[in-house]
Amino acid sequence: MTTPAFETLLNAARQTHADTPALQAFVAFPDDLTPQTVTPHDIPARKLMVEETAWPDTALHPLAQAYINAASDAHWRETYKDTDIGADFMDRFACYALIGPQAPWTSQTMFGFVVYMPAGLWYPWHHHPAEELYFVLAGEGEFLKHCEPSETLRAGQASYHASGQSHALRTHDHPIMAYVLWRNHFDTPPVWSKGRL
Ligand code: FE
Repeated sequence: MTTPAFETLLNAARQTHADTPALQAFVAFPDDLTPQTVTPHDIPARKLMVEETAWPDTALHPLAQAYINAASDAHWRETYKDTDIGADFMDRFACYALIGPQAPWTSQTMFGFVVYMPAGLWYPWHHHPAEELYFVLAGEGEFLKHCEPSETLRAGQASYHASGQSHALRTHDHPIMAYVLWRNHFDTPPVWSKGRL
């Protein structure tokens, strides 16, 4: 079941795609969206994202604001719950899907979700068969990729992760919020890379 906040969020995502060649080049905005029922599921990091005040941006991107506004309707994901990552990461790393599993819409062509991390968090090395594009909506973060130099990205910049390429993300003085897209092989969840730290 969709909600008014989810409808606004979907429109913001569609508009962001229309405005952003890097997103269009990665995957076309889906034309096969199928609504499905979402059972809201809360995690502690939702509150951190909704109440975040340390954004360095002069104004929040409309898609970032729409993700915040739909936070109470969302099924927040706990992708790494059954791993040894520990409570601190689980309590501060936030993610929910707009298009994908446990999301208000599904598509056969892409997943679309939001990732939020507060300042001073390390998202260790991990990988997955799906190709991935992070599009930073707010804040900034240091993106690390196997065999490539790390780079600090801010709102409007994107990081591409190839199929199976290990990657990690670190926030320093600022939080980050990113619109994340997956294409191909997206039924296989991420796993921690060997020696992930
Ligand atoms: Fe990833």
